[in-house]
Amino acid sequence: MREGEGGSERAAVGEDELGVRLKAYEGRAAAVAGTGKDPVNMPMIRHWCEAMGDTNPAYAGPDAMAPPTMLQAWTMGGLSGHEGRTGDYDELLGLLDDAGCTSVVATDCEQEYVRPLRPGDEITFDTVIESVSQRKTTKLGTGYFVTTRTDIRAKQALDAPTTPTTPTTPTTPAFVGPLVGTHRFRILKYAPAHRDHKPPPRPRPVVNRDNAGFWEGVQHHRLLIQRCTDCTTLRFPWLPGCNGCGGPDWDTVEASGEGTVYSYVVMHHPPFPAFSPPYAVALIELAEGVRMISNVVGAPCDKVRIGMPVRLEFQSYDDELVLPVFRILEDAA
Ligand code: ZN
Repeated sequence: MREGEGGSERAAVGEDELGVRLKAYEGRAAAVAGTGKDPVNMPMIRHWCEAMGDTNPAYAGPDAMAPPTMLQAWTMGGLSGHEGRTGDYDELLGLLDDAGCTSVVATDCEQEYVRPLRPGDEITFDTVIESVSQRKTTKLGTGYFVTTRTDIRAKQALDAPTTPTTPTTPTTPAFVGPLVGTHRFRILKYAPAHRDHKPPPRPRPVVNRDNAGFWEGVQHHRLLIQRCTDCTTLRFPWLPGCNGCGGPDWDTVEASGEGTVYSYVVMHHPPFPAFSPPYAVALIELAEGVRMISNVVGAPCDKVRIGMPVRLEFQSYDDELVLPVFRILEDAA
């Protein structure tokens, strides 16, 4: 189904030839004869009700029914997935990916309930690609809404005596029971809107009356450590009182700038707009004995190791923001 290289595919999006190709998938099956991994059962119902905070007595006791909104839960394949999924839905998504609509967001879900489900009921389901929209432009970007509809059927425990047992194969449902409900799920598959604005600035430190002296020092490229004037204990971060003796009075000493990596993590995820992962965040032990969290620079983040010697420097991030960072000494990297 693919044709051409990226350029012509982008042109197809422009003329919405893609939309015509996508429309051809309407009515095709996305899953055939799926089978619920477990019959409707009380443990799943109980967990659901606890998670939702739903204490309706109809969902407990010997005559319990399943909450109707659990409908989709009975069809979920979990990590191991389901048999019965067709290639058509993946092919449709692949066409959208190739056209640059690589992002996806679930937009809404509708359910219709026909019959209640009770413990012991066994589930089968079929999913069809119900509709593909015209090309739409939203705040997120331009793309297509794709709606799938899953029809859920059940061999109901109460029906069992009258339902003949039939031999089963992996691709044939054990039964075709009455419809209990339908579940419609709509996604927007889109090409993200281009945003021209600059990345957001790095977050500002929270400066308050307890730590204002520290940040003033940083502005002057001095790393100041608080020292209790009663017992001379050093402390960092800045605090209003001494952890050693409780004394409220303090002065400062300026850090020499020598230190070692006491511990570290390498941040990969979640991404934050003002930062470019991966990067190392380290707990630095200063030569004076106190520790502070900072960034480590001067070596790839996967080369950072506990115990590496580092030296303080001050890095300007924009017109206002200066932060202390620690550079790995060359012979250590
Ligand atoms: Zn003290």
